[in-house]
Amino acid sequence: MTSTNSVYIALGSNKGNKLQNLQLALDAIYNSIGVISKISKVYTTPALGFDGDDFYNACITVETELKPRKILKELQSIESKLGRAKKTTTGYESRELDLDILLYKDKIINEKRLVVPHPKMQTRKFVLQPLYDIAKDIEHPVFKKTIQLLLEECEDESVIEPIKIWLKNPKIKFRFSDYNFIAIEGNIGAGKTSLAKKIAKDFNAKLILERFADNPFLPKFYKKPKRYAFTLEMSFLADRYQQISDDLSQLDLFKDFMVSDYDVNKSLIFSKVTLPEDEFRLYRKLFYQVYKDIAKPDLYIYLYQNTERLQKNIKKRGRNYEKDIKDEYLEKINSGYLEFLKSQPDMNVKIIDISDKDFVKSRADYLWLLNEISKH
Ligand code: ATP
Ligand code: CA
Ligand code: CA
Repeated sequence: MTSTNSVYIALGSNKGNKLQNLQLALDAIYNSIGVISKISKVYTTPALGFDGDDFYNACITVETELKPRKILKELQSIESKLGRAKKTTTGYESRELDLDILLYKDKIINEKRLVVPHPKMQTRKFVLQPLYDIAKDIEHPVFKKTIQLLLEECEDESVIEPIKIWLKNPKIKFRFSDYNFIAIEGNIGAGKTSLAKKIAKDFNAKLILERFADNPFLPKFYKKPKRYAFTLEMSFLADRYQQISDDLSQLDLFKDFMVSDYDVNKSLIFSKVTLPEDEFRLYRKLFYQVYKDIAKPDLYIYLYQNTERLQKNIKKRGRNYEKDIKDEYLEKINSGYLEFLKSQPDMNVKIIDISDKDFVKSRADYLWLLNEISKH
């Protein structure tokens, strides 16, 4: 999966509804750039170097997959959407919104349109003061000094006061921590693991991943399904039980909930497709014995993708033993899931069709999916 980096952004407004401008900017940044992990207090500061209303200033940290140039582009498009007109003079002037990149990891960039760290940050108390709230120990990569030290050494004498209203983190729209245990399910190649990883990261959940990769029977099964189906299902039964009971019993006090990329019932669903009737009945007996006391997810998400999309995804991830999976097999597994879900009236299930979405590549699709999940 693509990794994320921290970018520090300064926000300022001295025109119109200043607080609302900053809040709308935060929402837009969350939508197009990434999760906001830290938000400073909002400070009121006199306009520096020109005649105008006081500024509201704040700084935020954003975890993003985007590169600096793309971030700047997004920030500029947010500025113009939220009403900032093109400059009419060459000097500084009042604006609804100004969004500057202060720091991007410890990167140093010197391009015509983009200079990082922001070249004037060390001289501006209205930047350093809010930045201090969220990054006092971060080192400036050029001066090799912490933000705390830069603030202490800053000669800007202007009066900077925090106001008593705070900006809200847009992410709290998604109340995942209402749940204890979320299972993400779906057919082979539906994107269970990618989604579980993203949710765990963005919402501070403990991640439970299926350890299928080291199952020695899986490649054998795909070659000779009849011969290896029962052995494979038995080995999954043993493995999954071991793992899930370990994971579920080790509470992590620093995590808000658990998210897994499978639910143990998948053993039943797959074995019903792969085993002959009599073997399946034997298997089911064992299954219920083993799992009678296991914790159940309080939210079960089924990611549906049509067969064509599944095949594309399977091809893309290129696991050798999966390359000859037939459409028909995928369709049977899908019906198996739907049949199982129909027989579970007590389970809190969400079936979401993501056939025409790409939540890995597109942040908009990812947010759409989160929204579908948290809809009541
Ligand atoms: P200042 O840079 O003194 O804060 P400003 O924010 O008022 O001035 P703008 O008119 O908003 O200036 O931006 C001028 C140009 O600065 C932008 O077109 C952008 O390409 C460039 N720029 C260079 N480095 C950065 C950065 N780190 N963050 C934002 N813009 C930057
Ligand atoms: Ca600026
Ligand atoms: Ca700017």
